[in-house]
Amino acid sequence: MASLDYSRAAALAWAQAQLVVVGQDDSPKLDADLLLCHQLECASASLYAWPEKRLTDAQWQGFSALVEQRSLGRPIAHLLGQQGFWSLDLAVDASTLIPRPETELLVETVLSLDLPAQAQVIDLGTGTGAIALALASEQPQWQITGIDQSSDAVALAQKNAYACDLQQVQFEQGDWASGWVKDALAPIHCIVSNPPYIDAKDPHLSQGDVRYEPLSALVAGDHGMADIHTIAQQSSQLLATGGWLAFEHGYDQAAAVGQLLTRLGFVRVATQKDYNSQDRVTLGQWP
Ligand code: GLN
Repeated sequence: MASLDYSRAAALAWAQAQLVVVGQDDSPKLDADLLLCHQLECASASLYAWPEKRLTDAQWQGFSALVEQRSLGRPIAHLLGQQGFWSLDLAVDASTLIPRPETELLVETVLSLDLPAQAQVIDLGTGTGAIALALASEQPQWQITGIDQSSDAVALAQKNAYACDLQQVQFEQGDWASGWVKDALAPIHCIVSNPPYIDAKDPHLSQGDVRYEPLSALVAGDHGMADIHTIAQQSSQLLATGGWLAFEHGYDQAAAVGQLLTRLGFVRVATQKDYNSQDRVTLGQWP
């Protein structure tokens, strides 16, 4: 078919069929819509209001290149350059994890804690800044700092803070919380983290979006527990009395994380399930 014959409807049908054939994509129809909206810079309602409108040659070339990338497995978030998280649209790139819907449970968990009006909160391994920025969007008075070891991630999180108009959130480069000391004049009320927690041998690492995410954001030693261990240990040294630590972890790590927190002296240790009924978040309070 000559490219100029492509109406929006025909382009969508072609893309969907293409994505189905390759079989890498769980949601070919949605992804075809998202990629065409991205290419045309229009809302999805416009695709269906004017399905007969023709693509220009340049639009068609751009769109077919996006569909090809998607059919090779590139994450939709990387092709769009953004991902929705909580109420925010966040820029994403290959320097960090793509924010996941499960991680919204961690945000909800922290928001449900009884924290002071101007709580000091640290987000360790902040990546895009998703957790820190979502918390700030709900609690603008909190003093929130996001830490990441990657300077590219810190730059991305800062860019997201500006784009979301949440410049009160600070982002810094650091090795977990090792740059922090306990300070009675600036108590830390909550440490939150979605650290790497996947075992290096986990077969899921060779499937789907994770293939395009940095291993440093996904994989941890000691069966995925090494960074959780470091963060829990540091948190026990840093949190104010009554302060909270809340983690995301793998579906099969709740018992190990709970035991670790209890052993370090945390109290009120509890685990919460995500929307798929998998253990996903464990928290504990420093006595
Ligand atoms: N939940 C993500 C996954 O399983 C991993 C996120 C992480 O390691 N923090 O793909």
